[in-house]
Amino acid sequence: MNKIFQIAIDGPTASGKSTISSIIAEELKIAYIDTGAMYRALALKAYRKGFDSSFEDGINGLLDDISIDFREDGVYLDGENVSDQIRENHISLYASTISAYPKVREVLTKMQKEIASNKSVIMDGRDIGTNVLKDAEYKFFLIASPEVRAIRRYKELESRGDKIELDKLIEEINQRDFNDTNRKINPMKKAKDAMEIDTSEMTVEEVKNFIISRINE
Ligand code: C5P
Repeated sequence: MNKIFQIAIDGPTASGKSTISSIIAEELKIAYIDTGAMYRALALKAYRKGFDSSFEDGINGLLDDISIDFREDGVYLDGENVSDQIRENHISLYASTISAYPKVREVLTKMQKEIASNKSVIMDGRDIGTNVLKDAEYKFFLIASPEVRAIRRYKELESRGDKIELDKLIEEINQRDFNDTNRKINPMKKAKDAMEIDTSEMTVEEVKNFIISRINE
């Protein structure tokens, strides 16, 4: 494939988006853009300033002077590799709260469109197929049962040394799903032309092969 093409992957928290997207990017030798990492990076910047996630004006102000970029070894916020810090659990809900702010969405969406404008990409998030890459050639919407998603997230955090009770995680996942689905601007939604894949009972390899086979069709 020589032509530039775009793959949009959306779905709720822990539905498998980032794991699948990064291995597909590697296999197809295209860029992987994790848009959630951008909301997380902004959340981290605001958190470090001591802002409460409800301080919309303060958070909007941070957008005037922020740099977020994806390099070989991770996500950089204002020149610092913050790949680990943005995954800390308190950043998840913070990111979800601030992602509903219109200016936040406007600025980050613009950055995402620019990144994807001149190269083939696989981009994952909540509004990629419906908004950021509306014209993407390939669109997928990954889902998984709430139990499977909570256990995946639990294992991910555990492997990083974070111990969070499963009940608390389920509550947080539900809260994020609610926020992401019900916000006014660009809520999480399956695009009409996206293919839904339930990954609950599938291995990573199976999901990857399924998506690649669709792309090669
Ligand atoms: O994908 P991840 O869980 O890292 O994203 C963190 C939060 O960022 C999500 O809960 C969601 O609120 C927000 N987000 C978004 N739109 C995207 C990607 C992420 O609103 N395209």
